[in-house]
Amino acid sequence: MAKIHILGSGTPFPGPDRFGSSYLIDAGSEKVLFDCGPATTQKLARAGFTPTDVSSVFLTHHHYDHMIDLPCFVMVRWDHQTPETPILQVHGPQPTTEFIEELFGREGVLRRDIVARSEHPASQRVYQMRGGVLPRPWPDWEASDLVPGDRVEGKEWTVTAARAAHVQPYHESLAYRIETPAGSVVITGDTARCPEVTELAWGADVMLCCCWDHHDGDEQIDECVADGMVGNMCGPEDAALMAAEAGVKRLVLVHATQSISEPGSAARAVSVASEIFSGPVTFAHEGLQLTI
Ligand SMILES: [Zn+2]
Repeated sequence: MAKIHILGSGTPFPGPDRFGSSYLIDAGSEKVLFDCGPATTQKLARAGFTPTDVSSVFLTHHHYDHMIDLPCFVMVRWDHQTPETPILQVHGPQPTTEFIEELFGREGVLRRDIVARSEHPASQRVYQMRGGVLPRPWPDWEASDLVPGDRVEGKEWTVTAARAAHVQPYHESLAYRIETPAGSVVITGDTARCPEVTELAWGADVMLCCCWDHHDGDEQIDECVADGMVGNMCGPEDAALMAAEAGVKRLVLVHATQSISEPGSAARAVSVASEIFSGPVTFAHEGLQLTI
């Protein structure tokens, strides 16, 4: 059995119940986090986890709604780690390795707090009371820049990356498929309907697909069409078309604006998707747990 925790299921604009992207896959002995959008660390706590429970983080891309809580997540993990806590693995499209170094390296933007917590006697005492041994080690991680087709193996899972069609060339964007003994989950990240993500999702048990908004009457989308830039996000139709074409077993709509999340609007999104995709369709809320 594996569990999917929907931690963040919103957009870059905060609403009372949703903000940014993050999903935790509890694959038994290891927990894998996909994206680390706003307040992920606190949303993890609400789901009953701490950053030290998480062994690996995969970023889909470097828009802030997908990675802005990574500094908080890594600092909390470092602050509360024990000698048994495994080294954090961070994977994502280029420039993930550079981004991590810029945050937590010896010259990184968080170096002052790392030094303060390592050297002030009061901080050292708190650290020792938690079982830490001085001198405090600098935060440690292993990071990699992934390209489409790359695979990363954990103890009981494998993640495969595919190109997502989002805002290239400004941000490289990846979709991921995680295979566990219990089944497979596809996290599309932010993408338009595209053959690479459809192929990645082939036969998956669950597909978490971005569903930004209804595309009808959307002036912003109309402007993008005029500029020839349409297609950097899915609405319910495109999410359902990919799910149907890929033959996934279940579609979960995530990354939703406040307006599409209103009760009537969310129901309409599910009904639109259900006309195209014959399997179960769920409109995700933050805190939702699914089992595979
Ligand atoms: Zn996004």
